[in-house]
Amino acid sequence: MKSQKKEALFWKTLPDGRIQCDLCPHSCILSENQRGICQTREVSQGKLYSLYYSQVASIGQVDPIEKKPLYHFRPGSKVLSFGSISCNLQCAHCQNYSLSQTYSDRMMISLTVDKILAMAKQSQCQGIAWTYNEPTIHFETYYDWSQVLQKHGFFIVWVSNGYIQPEPLKKIAPFLHAINFDVKAFTEEFYTRYTKSRLQPVLESCILAKNLQIPLEITYLVIPTLNDSIQEINAYLDWVEKNLGKDTPLHFSRFHPDNQLTHLPPTPREKILQIVELAKTRKFQYVYAGNLYPNPYEDTFCPSCSQILVKRSGYHVGEVNVSKEKKCKFCNSSVNVLI
Ligand code: SF4
Repeated sequence: MKSQKKEALFWKTLPDGRIQCDLCPHSCILSENQRGICQTREVSQGKLYSLYYSQVASIGQVDPIEKKPLYHFRPGSKVLSFGSISCNLQCAHCQNYSLSQTYSDRMMISLTVDKILAMAKQSQCQGIAWTYNEPTIHFETYYDWSQVLQKHGFFIVWVSNGYIQPEPLKKIAPFLHAINFDVKAFTEEFYTRYTKSRLQPVLESCILAKNLQIPLEITYLVIPTLNDSIQEINAYLDWVEKNLGKDTPLHFSRFHPDNQLTHLPPTPREKILQIVELAKTRKFQYVYAGNLYPNPYEDTFCPSCSQILVKRSGYHVGEVNVSKEKKCKFCNSSVNVLI
């Protein structure tokens, strides 16, 4: 499939005639016919173009919203999920690398928003997810589609590495209803070595999402020996407490050997349990274990009365004891769950 181009948003011409992309913190500076690190934006005749406009590689899978993972926004709802190719990060542990790193143009399929609307209605989904690979690098497509889909009553969720500049995030914020950002470790060394990016801009995106009042959940994939020290986890929790608050939903997920890190073992079950229990001991209110079966940390409890707010079994949601006004049905205290 030939790529479809559209003039990109967020770029400028530098005094020397080269083009700087301002979409993500890499801030690529590009000459004619050159592509950015993400391989999805290219300079042509002095302008920056978004390649693969209105194209996707993964089409319309119906997922429970819990799979994103999003546990605190519309629990039990179904989302129609789309992904594309490539990424602005190059994670050594990427678990979707067939889409993000070893893709080919031939995987791309052209799509229209009318077709997405028809699919969403037919599959009785309540929302749409831009997920599987990094949505930021296909900003123009998802920005255009999100506006139309929202007008037709669908919510939009954004599953992302958080490597986006503030202005693009602010621009798309009115059309995003919940976000899951990865924080992949809490050291710049890890980000430089294993993702070819930086931690600080991701943290700034988390703060901006909170300030923009977009429901935010964070996933931390715990990788044995690389980002799993209790010292590092405590530093991460310190940062969350200070900048986002203890009512931020936190997911600590188990790593499975993949991509370039197949020499590492899966995260021991006990390590995930230890980290979740540490966060709970520190009074973080909503802490979950991910990729763990059986999973003793998948339900949501009221921070005030300790009754179950949302009962889960894997991706299945049982009882939901939260009112539309975000209150616990048992004790009427305010909770950070939007139904
Ligand atoms: S979106 Fe792509 S081209 Fe733009 S700065 Fe990021 S990696 Fe570079």
